[in-house]
Amino acid sequence: MPVLDSIDRGDFEQVQVLRSPGAGLTAVIAVHDTRMGPAFGGIRRRRYADLGQALEDALRLARAMTLKCAIANIPAGGGKAVILDREELDRRAAYGLLGRHVEAMGGRFYTGPDLGTSDEDLLAVAEQTGFVARPGARGPGDLAESTALGVLSSLRATAAFLGRDLPGLVVAVQGLGAVGMKLSRMLADEGASLLVSDLMPERVDSAASECGARPVPVGEILDVSCDVLAPCALGGVITEEVAERLPARAICGAANNLLASPEAGRILHRRGVPAAPDFVANAGALIHGALFHLTGEVPPRSRIAGLGAVVAGILEESAASGVPPGEVALNRAKKVLGGYPPRPWFPERTP
Ligand code: NAD
Repeated sequence: MPVLDSIDRGDFEQVQVLRSPGAGLTAVIAVHDTRMGPAFGGIRRRRYADLGQALEDALRLARAMTLKCAIANIPAGGGKAVILDREELDRRAAYGLLGRHVEAMGGRFYTGPDLGTSDEDLLAVAEQTGFVARPGARGPGDLAESTALGVLSSLRATAAFLGRDLPGLVVAVQGLGAVGMKLSRMLADEGASLLVSDLMPERVDSAASECGARPVPVGEILDVSCDVLAPCALGGVITEEVAERLPARAICGAANNLLASPEAGRILHRRGVPAAPDFVANAGALIHGALFHLTGEVPPRSRIAGLGAVVAGILEESAASGVPPGEVALNRAKKVLGGYPPRPWFPERTP
C-alpha cells in the first residue's frame, strides 16, 4: 500500500491508529521527527473517505510541522492527530479519549487546534492532559493572530523583493477565516488595497466595511490582477495549470501545502513569480504555541515577525541559485535537521 511505504520512506518515528468502537472513534496520531524536541501538531477532524486518506493527511501535515520547527529554529518537532468524522462519532467522548492517549505519550506529543476542532473539543482534551493548547486564560492565547502576523511579515518581505512596500500594494486574499480576516485587517492598517473572497458572504461584507476591501467572486480570485495573492483558505490551490496563468506578481499566504505539486513551484519560478514557502510564512502559530509550552511564556511578537527575514533570505537565495523558493526552504530545513542525531522513541526500560 503506498501510504504504508510513505511511512517507511518518510522517516516517521511513530504512527498510531486509535480505535474505540464505543465512542465511534478512529483516529491517527503521527509523530514525524523529535530530533530537535517534542512533536507539536493540532487535531484535524474531517470526513475522510477512508483510513488511508486520513493517514496520508496526518503524515503530510506532521512532516510539514517538522520543517516549520527546523526553519524557524524551534526546539521541537512535527506531529499531527486526525479524527475520522463519522455519523457514529461521539465527539466529546472521542476528544476525551484522544486526550488520555496524548497524556499516556508522556510529553512526546503536544496537540492543539486545527480544522474541525473547536474550543469545546480542546477543553475535553485538556480535561485529560496538559499536553494541549488550552483555550482561555490558562492557554497560549490567539494562535491564528500569530499566524496572521507571520504572514504579514513574510508578505512585507515578498513585496520588498518586488521592490514594493505595503502602502498601495494590491493584495488578493482568498479565505477570510481565523487567519485571513486578521491578515486583511493588518494589511488595511498598513495601507494595502484589498481584493477578497470567501464562501461566506457575511465575512466578505465584514472585510468590505472594516478594511475597505473589494469583493471578488469565489471562482475569480485566482484570476484577478494583483501584486500578491494571499491564499488563506485551502491547500493545493496552485495547480500547474493555475501556476501557468496566474496574473499575480507574487504569492504569500497562510494555507498549508499551497502548491499542488513541486512542478507548480517550478512553473511559478520559471515565470518569475516568487512564492513565499508556506511552511515558513505560516509558522507563527507553531512558534507561539511551541514556545509557550516549552518556556511557559508567550513569545515576543518580534520572534514571529522574524519570519519575514527568513523569507527574504530564501527569495534572495532562490534568485541567485535558480532553485525555486520552496525547494530552497526544504533544503535549508533538511540541513538543520541533519545536524541532529536520529532519536529513538522507544521508552527507557524500567528496572
Ligand atoms: P478557517 O477555517 O478559519 O478559514 C478558512 C476560510 O476559507 C473560511 O472562511 C472558508 O469559508 C473560506 N474558504 C473555504 N474555501 C474557500 C474558497 N474556495 N474560496 C474562498 N474562501 C474559501 O481556517 P484558518 O484557521 O483561517 O486557516 C486558513 C488556512 O491557513 C488553512 O489552510 C490552514 O491550514 C492554514 N493555517 C492556519 C493556521 C492557524 O493558525 N489557524 C496556522 C497555519 C496554517
